[in-house]
Amino acid sequence: MDNQAFDGRPNLSDLELIWRCLNCGEHMVVEGETLPEVCPSCSAPKTEFERVRED
Ligand SMILES: [Zn+2]
Repeated sequence: MDNQAFDGRPNLSDLELIWRCLNCGEHMVVEGETLPEVCPSCSAPKTEFERVRED
């Protein structure tokens, strides 16, 4: 077995950001600044969203 190994980097582009709804905890992957107006899960306004950092 000599499969080429992954280099361990996540396959997430710089334009894709993860946001979290503070009201219900729903995670959303958002491209650029195109946040939904309301949470798809609980309909909280986007002012309730918080950016999630992945380190
Ligand atoms: Zn929500």
